[in-house]
Amino acid sequence: MFLWGDTMKIDLEKLRLGTRQSLEFSFDNPGRDEYLKELGGKYRDNLKVDIQIEKPGKFYLAQGHVTTVLELSCSRCLEKFYYSINAGFHFNLVETRMQEEFAPDEDVIFFDHDEVEIQPFIEQLVFSEIPFAPVCGVECKGLCPQCGTNQNSSQCQCRHKNTDPRWDKLKDLKFGKEVT
Ligand SMILES: [Zn+2]
Ligand SMILES: [Zn+2]
Repeated sequence: MFLWGDTMKIDLEKLRLGTRQSLEFSFDNPGRDEYLKELGGKYRDNLKVDIQIEKPGKFYLAQGHVTTVLELSCSRCLEKFYYSINAGFHFNLVETRMQEEFAPDEDVIFFDHDEVEIQPFIEQLVFSEIPFAPVCGVECKGLCPQCGTNQNSSQCQCRHKNTDPRWDKLKDLKFGKEVT
């Protein structure tokens, strides 16, 4: 069984001591839906993460890759659909005591102990990969603005009728008497 206390922890001890040049970690952990709530999303697959960490200088540099599958609602037809996330990332790991030496405009996780939890960073990254107005497909026809029918699965009659009164006015203009 998966325990929430045991998430994506990386241990930097061997890098700190210099006994290793780089460390690699892999995770296959459930993502937490509450971080997608704002967008009405849900995880439909685990967060699969590969990450490599080096220490080229004072700071640690992490680079990696995350894949997962989300369930989102289409912004046009409102149907649920699956959306694959496949994203590379890199960030720095900086000891809190060196915080002031670090340029604040880069992605960074500050830490105090060798064991660092990276799952919140990964979940934030997944969140930022979700499009502002997700669509189930580029071909999605959306809902009929008049009757609300999903135009991907059935055709309503609205589009064939011309119920917009502005068109009548146009007709009058076209066929009416010209004002001199
Ligand atoms: Zn759609
Ligand atoms: Zn309609």
